[in-house]
Amino acid sequence: MNLDASSVAFAAYLVAALLFILSLAGLSKHETARNGVAYGIAGMAIALVATLWLAIDVADVADTGALPVVLLLVAVLIGAAIGLWRARVVEMTGMPELIALLHSFVGLAAVLVGWNGYLSHPELGLESLKDIHNAEVFIGVFIGGVTFTGSIVANLKLSARMKSAPLMLPGKNAINLGALGAFVVLTIWFVATPNLALLIAVTVVSLALGWHLVASIGGGDMPVVVSMLNSYSGWAAAASGFLLSNNLLIVTGALVGSSGAYLSFIMCQAMNRSFISVIAGGFGIEAPAGEAKEYGEHREIQAAETAELLAGASSVVITPGYGMAVAQAQYPVAALTAALRERGVDVRFAIHPVAGRLPGHMNVLLAEAKVPYDIVLEMDEINDELGDVDVVLVIGANDTVNPAALEEPGSPIAGMPVLEVWKARDVVVFKRSMAVGYAGVQNPLFFRDNTQMLFGDAKERVNDIIAALPVRV
Ligand code: NDP
Repeated sequence: MNLDASSVAFAAYLVAALLFILSLAGLSKHETARNGVAYGIAGMAIALVATLWLAIDVADVADTGALPVVLLLVAVLIGAAIGLWRARVVEMTGMPELIALLHSFVGLAAVLVGWNGYLSHPELGLESLKDIHNAEVFIGVFIGGVTFTGSIVANLKLSARMKSAPLMLPGKNAINLGALGAFVVLTIWFVATPNLALLIAVTVVSLALGWHLVASIGGGDMPVVVSMLNSYSGWAAAASGFLLSNNLLIVTGALVGSSGAYLSFIMCQAMNRSFISVIAGGFGIEAPAGEAKEYGEHREIQAAETAELLAGASSVVITPGYGMAVAQAQYPVAALTAALRERGVDVRFAIHPVAGRLPGHMNVLLAEAKVPYDIVLEMDEINDELGDVDVVLVIGANDTVNPAALEEPGSPIAGMPVLEVWKARDVVVFKRSMAVGYAGVQNPLFFRDNTQMLFGDAKERVNDIIAALPVRV
């Protein structure tokens, strides 16, 4: 290989890695998020150009003709076209399942790179390097396989094509531990005597384990699963980086892997879940009792009455959830907020860390509708003040305002911190029916004495309220 091309590519990879770090730092705050995205795009563009340059150089030195480079370009163009099309058409509510699908591609790529690493028999010279290479092949295939099928199950669950309830196979913990044990034994065996049968065996074990791990996790814990798979996809990419001797892939994979693991950890803390238990496929969690409880009758309210209630209130808190995203109600919600604030009503938003279907989902929607950041508060900032609030509007939220999480130890969401909206004087819940939320559990909030249900599409109902707000004198 021409030394110049490789050292220029090395320098370019270093710059790209730094841009990725700046990107992650930028993405951690609202104010700098745009810059974060720009750094990420610049880093990726530099990485792609440098890789293409390297490929041209390698083809040149190996005298293979233009075919490998043409193949590379064709693959990049097809991938870019599909990626652009999906990104343009995907609804915000479909983002998590798209992300899960993208993670599955990273996993599949790691499996293919691993298999290629075994089949292509690189000349490594030293015997000890061969052992390391074989271990890399095995580890890459294993992490990739788990990521691949785990992400497919996450995609199916998030798109409601598979039940969100946890799969509770008898001895599920033993199955997971057994698969891990089999991986360790197979790795040692493969390093000692590499052969195709062992590679097939680890591929099958990893695919089955990925499927089982994610299928065993219940609906309410899916946010953690998505960020956990993000982390796994990072480690899968890093493993491929070792096999391909690509430093940028190793650095980027490690960045994605560690930031995804940290995000999973923060989300577990926010949801009062054991990190180890969730990443181990619900390890140690027993099947919830799941008995159907009778909570009594619910009361209904109409938009005009809600408008009167709001006009007479001095403090209002809005807790949005997935339904606001489905209805795309953020714009009328922002308009209602502005109208109430003009009347001197103190309006604030209470955001649950897992509201919606992806971390920060509600913050993104509210920012899109230009709701001022300073009235958008996190759950911990506002939970203690909800008792002093006149009216809480629960707009398309369900699991994140469910008192059963605190009051019913047998509930699948038991222990998860929730927005304690029932402490307010009046609560109005916007939804279309009495259906359950994502975790599949009934919500006793709907039957409380101070709660009234406003049925219908959230966007239409909020517009109705704006139209019915009494004229100011
Ligand atoms: P939920 O998913 O619990 O409930 C949403 C509610 O919105 C439903 O009860 C639904 O009721 C209502 N709704 C749907 N469409 C409309 C509409 N057009 N107009 C009015 N209401 C509507 O929402 P939450 O945000 O409270 O909770 C999020 C859940 O998703 C949690 O369980 C969380 O663990 C999980 N999750 C979160 C992820 C994240 O990263 N944030 C990722 C994956 C899962 P109805 O059908 O009757 O209208």
